[in-house]
Amino acid sequence: MERIALYRKYRPHNFVNLVGQDYIKTTLVNAIKSHHISHAYLFSGPRGTGKTSTARLMAKALNCQNLIDDHDPCNECEFCVDINEGRLIDMIEIDAASNRGIDEVRDLKEKINFAPTRAKYKVYVIDEVHMMTREAFNALLKTLEEPPPHVYFILATTEIHKIPDTIISRCQRFDFKRISRKALMTRLSYIAQAEKIEAEDKTFEAISKYADGGLRDAIGLFEQLTVDGKLEFEKVKDVLGVSDLSLLDSLYEALMTKDTKNALKIIHELHDQGSDLKKFIHEFVDNLRNKMIESVFESDSARTANLMNIIEIFQDAQSKLQLVSIPQLPLEIAVIKLAGPVEAGTEIADGAKKKVEKIAEKVEKKVDKKVEKTTEERVHKAIEDTGAITFELPSLKENWPRITERIKAPSLRLSLKNAVPVELGESDLTIQFETRFHRDKVMEHDHRIELEAVIKDVTGKPVKILSIVKELEIKSVVDEALNIFGGEVVD
Ligand SMILES: [Zn+2]
Repeated sequence: MERIALYRKYRPHNFVNLVGQDYIKTTLVNAIKSHHISHAYLFSGPRGTGKTSTARLMAKALNCQNLIDDHDPCNECEFCVDINEGRLIDMIEIDAASNRGIDEVRDLKEKINFAPTRAKYKVYVIDEVHMMTREAFNALLKTLEEPPPHVYFILATTEIHKIPDTIISRCQRFDFKRISRKALMTRLSYIAQAEKIEAEDKTFEAISKYADGGLRDAIGLFEQLTVDGKLEFEKVKDVLGVSDLSLLDSLYEALMTKDTKNALKIIHELHDQGSDLKKFIHEFVDNLRNKMIESVFESDSARTANLMNIIEIFQDAQSKLQLVSIPQLPLEIAVIKLAGPVEAGTEIADGAKKKVEKIAEKVEKKVDKKVEKTTEERVHKAIEDTGAITFELPSLKENWPRITERIKAPSLRLSLKNAVPVELGESDLTIQFETRFHRDKVMEHDHRIELEAVIKDVTGKPVKILSIVKELEIKSVVDEALNIFGGEVVD
């Protein structure tokens, strides 16, 4: 399938299908209806926002023989058809950025006075007009001062600041906006349906986000990522490097309901998915920012303050991300700061909350200090520690930290630090976890295999890992916090 095919096919052929530029659409439609079309328009705005498509619509509206509702091109008469196929001699499209474009602008002045060959009007569309030379601008300016009645100009640019004021002042100017995410998603979903492409809604969301307001980019990506009539989120995620967007909302929910465990789970899920945590925080903060602005307009000051607080803490986490050897740690700290280290639905006493904040602060300082110690160094050090580890419970207990240091995945290491060996059989070792969360993490198939391999490596004996979770005791929030951070806080 040719990459550009879908964009061509779904570029708007009439005003009804023009996506996202409602104000411009209304103004131009009214101009057509009332026969007050300006002889020179200047369309500025980011790429892929519909400037050239709108220019073509205007060219068709000027020349169409059977306008629908007095404004929309019929797409059936000879002029509409020829413009759609790019072969109407009276519609002159010039790319000012190309070499040929420079010559065409030079010729423009002498050719402009000739009457149209076939159509009623000649329409010049000059794309990337900011690329024109000063001489070309001067020539154009003369023409714009007194355009012949049979000529219309549509200038398009992505860089309005490079257009001389003298040109701008002679045109009716429209600033094309980035197309809203929602409008892009609606369009992609429409195309998927029309093309019978199987796709989940979250793929549209991810692509629309990435396309950043450009319909051409959105459709291009959509086409590029569709394989055998299917658009799979896994593929979109891999290529665009986006995180699962539903996790953004889930994390927000978890923070708002103070569901710390779920929030931590989401972060571990992100990490396991191999998501770019930096990007995730960026997206998360971007999301919160929209909510914050919304809350200001709704005069919900409590919500605004709450959102500001979350944004600040997550921005702080973002700045620490590069500095730590366990990439998800700053996020974990942010979550615990915000949601508190307690079960969902449990009230936190003020005093306890302050204590927790203090702990979080200390832990952060500790993290900062430890920055330079990379994972490799720590593993190396663990291996260097002398003393054989024997296949006996006391030895395994005593050397547990050395064993866990050999685990590669940081999140798995963290979970193992919350565990102790409690029973050793002929060839199975039972470890006890503080929480179900850490247990589940370690007992995931690949993780368990890795741990078993490490133990076999250090003791020389094959082992099967069994697990139990410690009966939940009522603990102070401080203990819980220590537990999450691996049980050691330094002053
Ligand atoms: Zn027509």
